[in-house]
Amino acid sequence: MKKSDLPTKICLVCARPFAWRRKLAKVWDEVKYCSDACRMRKKQREATQA
Ligand SMILES: [Zn+2]
Repeated sequence: MKKSDLPTKICLVCARPFAWRRKLAKVWDEVKYCSDACRMRKKQREATQA
C-alpha cells in the first residue's frame, strides 16, 4: 500500500481531512475527529448545549 492510499476521514469538529494513523488502527471505524483536541472540543460543545 502506498502512503497516498491511506484512508482518510473528515473531522467533525474542524472539518479537515485526516489520514489513517497506526495509533488509530483499532478504532478507525469509530474515529470521527482528527485529534484529541477536537474530540475534547466536541464534548465540551455538547456539554454546553445540553
Ligand atoms: Zn479536527
